[in-house]
Amino acid sequence: MSELLLFEKSKEGRRGFLLPALDVPAADPQEVIGPSICADAPPALPQLCEVEVTRHYQNLARKNFGVDLGFYPLGSCTMKYNPKVNEEAASLPGFCEVHPLQPEESVQGSLKLLHTLTSFLCEITGMSWGTMQSMAGAHGEFTGMKLFRAYFQKRGETRRNRLIVPSSSHGTNPASAHLSGFEVVEIPADSRGLVSLEALAPHLDDRLAGIMLTNPNTLGLFETDILEISQAVHDSGGLLYYDGANLNAVMGISRPGDMGFDVIHLNLHKTFSTPHGGGGPGSGPVLVSKRLVPFLPVPDVTQEGDIYRFSWDRPESIGKISGFYGNFLVNVRALTYILVMGCDGLKRASQMAVLNANYLMKHLKPLYHLTYDVICKHEFVLSAERLKKETGITAVDIAKGLIEEGIHPPTVYFPLIVPEALMIEPTETETLETLDRFIEVMKHLHRRAYEDPQSLKEAPSHMAVSRVDDVGAARHPRVCWEC
Ligand SMILES: *Cc1c(COP(=O)(O)O)cnc(C)c1O
Repeated sequence: MSELLLFEKSKEGRRGFLLPALDVPAADPQEVIGPSICADAPPALPQLCEVEVTRHYQNLARKNFGVDLGFYPLGSCTMKYNPKVNEEAASLPGFCEVHPLQPEESVQGSLKLLHTLTSFLCEITGMSWGTMQSMAGAHGEFTGMKLFRAYFQKRGETRRNRLIVPSSSHGTNPASAHLSGFEVVEIPADSRGLVSLEALAPHLDDRLAGIMLTNPNTLGLFETDILEISQAVHDSGGLLYYDGANLNAVMGISRPGDMGFDVIHLNLHKTFSTPHGGGGPGSGPVLVSKRLVPFLPVPDVTQEGDIYRFSWDRPESIGKISGFYGNFLVNVRALTYILVMGCDGLKRASQMAVLNANYLMKHLKPLYHLTYDVICKHEFVLSAERLKKETGITAVDIAKGLIEEGIHPPTVYFPLIVPEALMIEPTETETLETLDRFIEVMKHLHRRAYEDPQSLKEAPSHMAVSRVDDVGAARHPRVCWEC
């Protein structure tokens, strides 16, 4: 299997296509496009024949791992199976061949889809209205922070510049808050692994913009004091942001809107079964409570009788946050999933996700230390700290050992507050046999750590790619090909 890049395989004059002879006068790109943006020379693209390109990508794909190939318990990422009916809907010509600049009357079905999906997501989360424009979770967070800002500006409360973020939060939360110009105030988790009112109290003043929370949090634990927290934040004039990337534990059971949240983003590419990984495309819709609706991005999709329209009539809007209307076909997949599952199906998915996580947790906690030993939601966090002390084998060694067994590693070293963390999320779509095999493999790796630690330090030893130099890759990344 060749490791060469397409550029290195290139041979002058090779072609993978045949164009018909030109039957119109040739135009000079410098004239048509204009010299200011037209390059002086054509791009140095590789020149290859079709079979080479096909083999190149097929060989790369065979080295890859995906949820269609095996178990993928990557905590906080909800790698649930993506039903193929979603793909069927997204490949209907009426959806995939529309152009974003087509007249409204010719894309009524697509507008209806955006409107229907927004209202379904509002129903699921208990929010008032939203936007489907944001293309990822972090993009949703950024949009949410802009909405916070607009709300305080309207009220003349520009002093409110502090955002509370719990220490267990997903890394994108403090990043989004900081990039939006807020001052990030980190508060520690208490002995239960939860946000406590005591930790919150010192920050409840007129400089508070609000709090960013995920519930269940990244330890897989439900914030039991959420109603008191939301009351306290609202009483001091702040807003609540819900990171709903992982709604998979509570979908159809409890609603962020009912908990008092003002803004929420969802990751359709996690909870709502659209594919993710490799950087997208995703969809991270933002939904808001009534008082933030006037600030939502434009255009909105509105309904009058049977007619759907784009509406730009929102004078206090934060404006556009993406080109056109977001990743439309991802939204088609999500609506398909919701319609196929129905209310009961969505609820059942959450229940099964929680059951599967607790089943794994119960079988693995005798071997790997469980920091917060209570019933979890859709995921749980083990620690390999004891194993490391006794054998030198770390969380990352266990992760590499799993790769040899055809299982994707869990999330490691996150959340930061658990040393040698292994964060496991099985999702609802796995069979009992798959869960049992994972337990067996985890037991086997634990035994191997004591009996033959050196072999585990070298894992994976019989895969297409062996143990990579993480530090080298991070410190000296080579992401460009140089000719
Ligand atoms: C995945 C995730 C995000 C970020 O979502 P992206 O689509 O990758 O930007 C944010 N918060 C939590 C809790 C997540 O799990």
